[in-house]
Amino acid sequence: MSKAAPERQEQLSGLARLPAVERVMALAEASEPVALYGRSQVLDAVRAALDARRDAWRAGAALASAACEAVSVLNEAVQHLSVRAQPRLRSVFNLSGTVLHTNLGRALLPDVAVQAVVTALTQPLNLEFDLATGRRGERDDLVEALLCELTGAQAATVVNNNAAAVLLTLSALASKKEVIVSRGELVEIGGAFRIPDIMNRAGARLREVGTTNRTHLRDYAEALNPRSALLMKVHCSNYAINGFTQSVELDELVPLARQQGVPVVVDLGSGTLADLTQWGLPGEPTVRDTIAAGADVVTFSGDKLLGGPQAGLIVGREEWIRKIRRHPLKRALRVGKLTLAALEPVLQLYRAPELLGERLTTLRLLTRPASAMQAAALRVQPVLQRALGERFTVEVEPMLSQIGSGALPVDLLPSYGLAVRRAGGKRGGRLLLEAETTLRAWPRPVLGRIKDDTLWLDLRCLESGDEALFIAQCAAVTR
Ligand SMILES: *Cc1c(COP(=O)(O)O)cnc(C)c1O
Repeated sequence: MSKAAPERQEQLSGLARLPAVERVMALAEASEPVALYGRSQVLDAVRAALDARRDAWRAGAALASAACEAVSVLNEAVQHLSVRAQPRLRSVFNLSGTVLHTNLGRALLPDVAVQAVVTALTQPLNLEFDLATGRRGERDDLVEALLCELTGAQAATVVNNNAAAVLLTLSALASKKEVIVSRGELVEIGGAFRIPDIMNRAGARLREVGTTNRTHLRDYAEALNPRSALLMKVHCSNYAINGFTQSVELDELVPLARQQGVPVVVDLGSGTLADLTQWGLPGEPTVRDTIAAGADVVTFSGDKLLGGPQAGLIVGREEWIRKIRRHPLKRALRVGKLTLAALEPVLQLYRAPELLGERLTTLRLLTRPASAMQAAALRVQPVLQRALGERFTVEVEPMLSQIGSGALPVDLLPSYGLAVRRAGGKRGGRLLLEAETTLRAWPRPVLGRIKDDTLWLDLRCLESGDEALFIAQCAAVTR
């Protein structure tokens, strides 16, 4: 008996002091979270908060009387709900120096596309409905004419991404047959897209010709046989072969293919609809040039240099596009209405090339003069220095941006930004990693790039609206 008394005492000081669930829910302060999250979620969270206190007490922890107040239980429950309600997909500051960053969502869309997507999300539309006849329509029809106008192709179709475009094209045109590709073009593009694997999936047999660094026209000619379905060229997106090299240009390959009656398929990768050299950017083959050189089918991405939504565009000669469109995989790989809604206005922008540099976000970012980034860096430097504190130095410095997404991999664009280093000229090491982690943990995460003992924050992608938000955030995290 004498042994039980202190236990009861302890019980009273612990578990018994916890409020009942009903009392917590009856608090006036509970009405707002209930309106926001719904009663059942709040109830569950309150129970969980109470359970956590019981578990802690059983594990030997003392229960402070403040923690036993109903309000404290409610606050903890609401805090938990608010953290859980945070979307996992969040916007970040891309200061990585890579404009078309695959892991950060590639191309940013211009406002016209954003508006079109909002409309498509909230209103019924003629996605597969021919308004002229009142009959069922084709979703491809919405952008086919525009794609043909911009590329000089006879026909066009759209799928989910360029990997899907290649898979579908090979499935429709080369199943159970051979596809001839140069060994120098058997590329792997990030995220396990390998030409040989796609070929397998499509049920086509890969017939490699030439060597890694040199392929001649006669290599293709010798490989052609009655089982050949097509000749394929793949753009070497993410690498360059330099030195003693030889590849066969499209205009040489086309006559050979014509003679044998097989099509030439070109996977352009990024592909661009405009000649980028007019904006001082490195040259990339345009889709129009590729079609003009005689390619029968060309596939390219919507969200790389084109600057639109994720999509795989397939353009070419009518007879091949028709076969591609009729293949059963097309249905599985088709795009949704949001993609088409965003794609159409972006393609429209290409009708006014002289305005493209201002209107197309991707192009505007790629052509931003280094002086604009330098001016931004001078404005941002003092606030970031204050936010990071005196263990670090933050300096305005020139740096080089990348286009990204495999486009023009070897070409770098002069830029400006902030170089963060450990103060006192010491090696950054762990402390520099800490700065990187800190920036990544800010409400809107800031993503830079560590190289040569420096955290580089390239300001190319920090346009004026974002710059103001960045500065505000730096001020907010500085106490
Ligand atoms: C990027 C790329 C792809 C894949 O395109 P996604 O749109 O990312 O699916 C395929 N081929 C080449 C040559 C590429 O550069």
